[in-house]
Amino acid sequence: MHPQLELLLEIQDLQMQRGGLADGTLGDMESDVFDIKVEDAISSLDEKVLELEGRLEEGVRKRYQLVTGKGPRVVAPVINGICYGCFVAISTARASETGRNRRVESCDHCGRFLYHLD
Ligand SMILES: [Zn+2]
Repeated sequence: MHPQLELLLEIQDLQMQRGGLADGTLGDMESDVFDIKVEDAISSLDEKVLELEGRLEEGVRKRYQLVTGKGPRVVAPVINGICYGCFVAISTARASETGRNRRVESCDHCGRFLYHLD
C-alpha cells in the first residue's frame, strides 16, 4: 500500500476514535474507572493527528484539508467499483487498474481518498 494512503487511514482511525470519545458513543467513559480522562485522551489524539498530518505530502495534504471539512471520513472504501464515501460509481477504467492502493487516488465525485477492497 502507498505509505501516504496508510498514513491517511491512520489519521482517519484517530479522528473516528476522537469523535467517539467526544460524543460519548465510545463506551461509557466513567473517569474513575479509566486511567485517563476523556479530555486528556482527546488532546493526545489531537496531538497525534497533527503529527501525522505533518507527514502528508504537499498535494495530499491540500486534498486532505478539503475533504476533512466534510467529516472524519477522509478515505472511502471502494467495493465493486462504488465509492462508499458518496455511493457513486468510480470510472471503470480506474476500477480495473492493477496495482490499486499503490497510488494515492481520490474520488472525482466527493474528493475522498480511495481505498480499494475488492
Ligand atoms: Zn466518492
